[in-house]
Amino acid sequence: MAIKILNKEKKNIAVGDIVIGQDPVLISGPCAVESREQLIETAKALKDIGVHILRGSIFKPRTSPYDFQGLGIEGLKYLKEASEITGLLTITEVMEEKYLEEVAEVVDIIQIGSRNMYNYPLLKAAGALNKPVLLKRGMSATIKEWTMAAEYLAANGNENIILCERGIRSFDDYTRNTLDLAAVPIMQKETGLPVIVDPSHGTGIKSLIKPMSLAAVAGGADGLMIEVHIRPEEALCDGKQSLTPSEYGEIVKALKDMNLLER
Ligand code: PEP
Ligand code: MN
Repeated sequence: MAIKILNKEKKNIAVGDIVIGQDPVLISGPCAVESREQLIETAKALKDIGVHILRGSIFKPRTSPYDFQGLGIEGLKYLKEASEITGLLTITEVMEEKYLEEVAEVVDIIQIGSRNMYNYPLLKAAGALNKPVLLKRGMSATIKEWTMAAEYLAANGNENIILCERGIRSFDDYTRNTLDLAAVPIMQKETGLPVIVDPSHGTGIKSLIKPMSLAAVAGGADGLMIEVHIRPEEALCDGKQSLTPSEYGEIVKALKDMNLLER
């Protein structure tokens, strides 16, 4: 099983006016887009803190079919408006091929989530897009499987790939997932692609997000994806692991104090 396109040569990915693979990129926002007000208020707070890319899912892959499934395409207009107001770039997850093009017309990066890392038709279709793709690690994916999933995108024409370590299932269930920070330098070396870390899903525990963020960037991660909600206690999804903007600001300050992020 050899990779043919991705190689060990270091690649930077240009998105809007930023380059991922140089200074650490900050991606942040709510787990789910819940309303126009929620998203815009969050985006404004994050812009002030220095975030580069606003996240917010409009399609939510939930374990229970009775939980909030996302606003769907309606949420796309709020992402667009939040971006227009703040100048932030945007990312959102797509789970079905049929929505890829419509979403790609609005957001700057398409996210393929952990549950869909093995969805080969989706990977092929995203490979045909002219749009950067953030590919999260499947929660039980080996390094080889994750690498090959990225190769699917490249083999279908899209080499603008950002990888995201988001924790894997292990024997231990103390944390939501077991954050595999060693995967960061491994995947950078094996694919040449930028690798960011999501300590929110990677641990599921608020108090662990700061130490894991600092460790990730100190260890060479190309950025962080962190869930932030203006009122975590009211969040429709993943409120327990969501930080307030001010808690998030403390992480950014700590990164700067440690000279891991430019002032
Ligand atoms: C997310 O980032 O919104 C998400 C669902 O994460 P994951 O795919 O890593 O579970
Ligand atoms: Mn979430």
